[in-house]
Amino acid sequence: MIKVEHLTKRYGNFTAVNDLSFEIEEGHVYGFLGPNGAGKSTTMNIMTGCLSATEGHVRIGGHDIFDEPDKAKKLMGYLPEQPPLYMNETPLEYLKFVGEAKGIKGRELAGQIKTVVERTRLEDVQNRLISKLSKGYRQRVGIAQALLGNPGVIILDEPTVGLDPIQIIEIRDLIKQLGQEHTVILSSHILSEVQAICEKVLIIVRGKLAAFDEPGNLEKLLTASNTVSFVAEAKVWEIEEILQEIEAVSDWQIKNPEDGRVRVDVRIDSGEANDICRSIFLAFAEKKRALLELTKKGANLEDVFIELTEGESEVAD
Ligand code: ADP
Ligand code: MG
Repeated sequence: MIKVEHLTKRYGNFTAVNDLSFEIEEGHVYGFLGPNGAGKSTTMNIMTGCLSATEGHVRIGGHDIFDEPDKAKKLMGYLPEQPPLYMNETPLEYLKFVGEAKGIKGRELAGQIKTVVERTRLEDVQNRLISKLSKGYRQRVGIAQALLGNPGVIILDEPTVGLDPIQIIEIRDLIKQLGQEHTVILSSHILSEVQAICEKVLIIVRGKLAAFDEPGNLEKLLTASNTVSFVAEAKVWEIEEILQEIEAVSDWQIKNPEDGRVRVDVRIDSGEANDICRSIFLAFAEKKRALLELTKKGANLEDVFIELTEGESEVAD
């Protein structure tokens, strides 16, 4: 359905998108996950024909976005990060304007507007000024305009940013519903969000594809870089002796041993953090050495991203 090949975007010396290649198949909800500045919006802007590329190709349903932009664009609806809403129009006026710009006319347009207003539940506010609408409703208007023309692919850039928790749930539900009839691609910097909505996740880091997997597998990847941290009342050599006995523990860092107290960060490569905490606790208890603290530190998404791009290239396969 969508084929992105060796896509690169440079701004001067800065490479925002770096040799990105992936394929999107029809009928799934895909997530672009990455920290701010990773290149998600740039990629989406190029895919939708809003921005030129420095190198590479994008094909939408077989049409090259640069050579046949009109044909390619007809197959996509796009909600950019900052949707160009006209504040002194009503949703109905705005949708009419966008529909006409997409080349839809007359009765066909009226019918489509009715349908998208229903699908995005805008009925109650369709005649109110957009400037008077909440951010959640404005986002629905943005999604409604993307649906005009009934494109097979809907691309949404950070659709829940700036919304309150209830609005977030409503927009997520709406996206899931759209996923039943369209191929949906959304971007987010929030792991739990893509886990909640997406069937396939592309992790983008510094313009590169770091991983492309199902959310379930991603979790394994992410928990792989968890750490367990503890403070023990013991000598460094005693701690090392104890840790060497614990099978799932292979790598640790000892920090500022003072007053006979030692802080240790244990890296978890495999296994479950709770199991490892239990093993550490029991091993120290057995040697009659006290643990003053024992905590799990979840993987920070940013750290994981950095780790994914540094060396561990096998995760990208
Ligand atoms: P994301 O959407 O993942 O947060 P963006 O695609 O917006 O990331 O940006 C990727 C990188 O490209 C960022 O470092 C950003 O500062 C840079 N960038 C984006 N647009 C421009 C531009 N017009 N000129 C220079 N740098 C830009
Ligand atoms: Mg962005």
